[in-house]
Amino acid sequence: MLDKVLIANRGEIALRVLRACKELGIKTVAVHSSADRDLMHVRLADESVCIGPASATDSYLNVPAIISATEVTDAVAIHPGYGFLSENADFAEQVEKSGFIFIGPRPETIRLMGDKVSAINVMREAGVPTVPGSDGPIDDDKERTLAIARRIGYPVIIKAAAGGGGRGMRVVHSEAALLKAIYVTQSEAKAFFGSGVVYLEKFLENPRHVEIQILADGQGNAIYLGDRDCSMQRRHQKVLEEAPAPGIPDHIRQKVAETCIKACEKMNYRGAGTLEFLYQDEQFYFIEMNTRVQVEHPVTEMVTGIDIVKEQLKIASGEKLSIKQSDVKLKGHAFECRINAEDPVTFLPCPGKINLFHAPGGNGIRVDSHIYSGYTVPPYYDSLIAKLITYGEDRAGALARMSNALDELLIDGIRTNTALHKEIIRDAEFQKGGVNIHYLESKLASQHKLPAK
Ligand code: ADP
Repeated sequence: MLDKVLIANRGEIALRVLRACKELGIKTVAVHSSADRDLMHVRLADESVCIGPASATDSYLNVPAIISATEVTDAVAIHPGYGFLSENADFAEQVEKSGFIFIGPRPETIRLMGDKVSAINVMREAGVPTVPGSDGPIDDDKERTLAIARRIGYPVIIKAAAGGGGRGMRVVHSEAALLKAIYVTQSEAKAFFGSGVVYLEKFLENPRHVEIQILADGQGNAIYLGDRDCSMQRRHQKVLEEAPAPGIPDHIRQKVAETCIKACEKMNYRGAGTLEFLYQDEQFYFIEMNTRVQVEHPVTEMVTGIDIVKEQLKIASGEKLSIKQSDVKLKGHAFECRINAEDPVTFLPCPGKINLFHAPGGNGIRVDSHIYSGYTVPPYYDSLIAKLITYGEDRAGALARMSNALDELLIDGIRTNTALHKEIIRDAEFQKGGVNIHYLESKLASQHKLPAK
């Protein structure tokens, strides 16, 4: 097993990784910015190193500082969490070149999947169903581009090959608007992601977002841990997730998951990963792969009993997968509400001091959070402050627990989106299961009398 792991992240995921390390008897190093000295995992880690000022560019994205911290503390491996450097192939390469273990896939796999165009090609070749699209980047040939869009059929969505975090996408409903929209998306993509490469996909009108969690050991073994439904979104960002995705016939899920496994075996994938799909009319369409642990991984842990982060650590230490596909048994249902420090109506971030925090509890309740009474949420980073996760024997049971848990949750001093979650889980359509990715935005638009996007 690994001797000492440096956790190159902050907030709830840093604490989550620290907990897994401690359970496995691995020593831990926390790295933090000067604004994050009071983070819970910094207090609990065996060692901590300040790697720079508040700005993420100078701290959590500061590769030389993170590598030096690994050197000076004699850590043997780096866990990148999610976000920050977790899907940065150059960073993974730098880590390996410096003689440390990157807890994640090989740099070339990250690079291949980080470019959505090459990811789609790899998946298609392995038999994974993809969205009808341009099958490659859009070039300067305007006639060719117009012909591709005509073949796909409007509406189409223009997507940045290097895009992420719900940015770098634009929907086009008519030929007249296409070329200009491509130009704007290319320029934005260049500015945001450093690459102006874009491609086209059919814009699916009412899909759900369903994803498959996989684990692979880089030694020829891969398994899948069921699926998750992450359709409750705002601005292409997930708000609430559940496992399993409700109402999907087993044989359809199994068929697509088997193609995912085939693709992972073909890439000799190593670590945890998620294949994201749109699901409409009983068809799965691959959109991208995330080569890291996901924010929503706990719902899968709750229904499978498998600790995904511990599995990541075991794989990184060179162990073969000890779990066989036939060992993966799904039981019950789980939900996760992402609690953000933000205004429930305007969605603007609301950092500040938490005077009082009371976490809900009881059977089937899990809270993954770094906050505590007296903690100040800094304004510099993502506004996620807690993940409220509930488990139930069935969907209704998990929902009832979530309802209670949200009522018990007390965060005094800053505004949070707790009220939005209460509204979602009491929504009749959501309770039925299977709402599509546009549901939340149309609901909000109708409430606030804003035009639906
Ligand atoms: P990101 O990497 O930014 O998360 P994704 O490719 O995963 O981008 O897409 C994010 C979200 O955007 C999806 O969950 C879905 O809501 C929407 N989306 C992406 N592609 C399409 C499409 N072809 N049709 C309809 N919606 C889409």
